[in-house]
Amino acid sequence: MEIAFHGAAQTVTGSKHLITLKSGKKILLDCGLFQGMGEDTEAMNEHFGFSPAELTYLVLSHAHIDHCGLIPRLVAQGFKGPIFCTAPTMDLARILLMDSAKIQEQDAEYSNKHRMRKGLPLIKPLYTDDDAIEAMRQFKIVDYNTDFEIDADISLLFTDAGHIVGSAAVHLAIKENGKITRITFSGDVGGYEDMLLKSPQPFPQADYILLESTYGDSLHAELESTEEQLLEIIRHTCIQKNGKLIIPAFSVGRTQEILYAINALELKGVLPYIRYYVDSPLSAKATQVLKDHELEFNADVKKVLKLDDDVFHFKGLKFIQTTEESKALNDDPRPCVIISASGMAEAGRVKHHIKNTIGNSKNTILMVGYCEPRSLGGRLIAGNKVVSIFAEDYNVNADIRSIKSMSAHGDYADLLRFVSCQDPAKVKILFLVHGEYEVQQRFKQRLLEKGFPVVHIPARHQMKELE
Ligand SMILES: [Zn+2]
Repeated sequence: MEIAFHGAAQTVTGSKHLITLKSGKKILLDCGLFQGMGEDTEAMNEHFGFSPAELTYLVLSHAHIDHCGLIPRLVAQGFKGPIFCTAPTMDLARILLMDSAKIQEQDAEYSNKHRMRKGLPLIKPLYTDDDAIEAMRQFKIVDYNTDFEIDADISLLFTDAGHIVGSAAVHLAIKENGKITRITFSGDVGGYEDMLLKSPQPFPQADYILLESTYGDSLHAELESTEEQLLEIIRHTCIQKNGKLIIPAFSVGRTQEILYAINALELKGVLPYIRYYVDSPLSAKATQVLKDHELEFNADVKKVLKLDDDVFHFKGLKFIQTTEESKALNDDPRPCVIISASGMAEAGRVKHHIKNTIGNSKNTILMVGYCEPRSLGGRLIAGNKVVSIFAEDYNVNADIRSIKSMSAHGDYADLLRFVSCQDPAKVKILFLVHGEYEVQQRFKQRLLEKGFPVVHIPARHQMKELE
């Protein structure tokens, strides 16, 4: 058999790896969208590098768009086989793909306005919401820790990767010429001390490993308690200054961590009684998906669940749905906390909330996740005194704060711990995927030192024979 790396090869987006058996069967691992690759992004998403109609199976590690975001296009272009994933991944993929389809359609519409003016041919969206709905029909749930026979030659095992709810490391045992080859694909690997999720789990010995390497050369700093910092910032902003606290947060993961931390403050009886809003329909849906899969949480959360059956809900919290309700928050002078997407404040409703509060020193904007330096969140963290929002300049008078929170990706110590269940001498090749090339080169050295005999960093579309 052979493997080809069609995405997340020397970069962190577009995860897509294709295994082709001698029998002609083809198994695709992930079908992610490329994001933020500059001018090349469009072309990279338009051409897979293989024919979707020829695929037999798709196995999906988790629901982040850089891992599942091209599935509707894959199906629209002729892929008819099953898509295997865990139950939470299927539920999250449904809402994230519908959201992504909407964005694809809006982007195409926007670009067509310009193209029309210039007399250029119009473009079609990468896919539509109908494509996303159609693709969901092919999803098949496979439980964690259960050997699942895909067919007589291929068996699949998912183990928890601790990255987002539903995330799995994928283990395939493939029979070819009477011999079994075991391939592990890590997907994205979480840290070992996540606020909500279980730790990444050990897995059976593999012959070949595809390991993510996003933070292959860094160690995350020790974190202060999110709860205590949040309480201090809420008190300072909303009680002492009577202001508004705006928290940009990713819809899946970070939003629920913030809600969980605020809920913990309520359980301790110290939460100020003011108004709390989650202003993002996607965040509301994602929160519901997490609630539906509470068995996936770690032991700490399960302990809290015994006292409180909804760990993401507390007195004063309201989920905002319509744009009218969202706009009405601007005119309400009362102190409140608004949690809204996107996490880097580059898009979404949070941008409007920042625009409306940034000029007044009684308000606070609190960043709780990584922000790309050029994003609005990144510029605020950098301490810019004037920022451009919707092409207009605004003075930054509000307090800008940040809480360094747990990354959804493990650092190199976590990644090494993840593969420590393996006898490195038995791993024929360890492939590093989902990382920047310089980072991967440094991480490769650490893995060689741990005894992995061959560590390979594949380039995009590179093919490798597996014995
Ligand atoms: Zn991910």
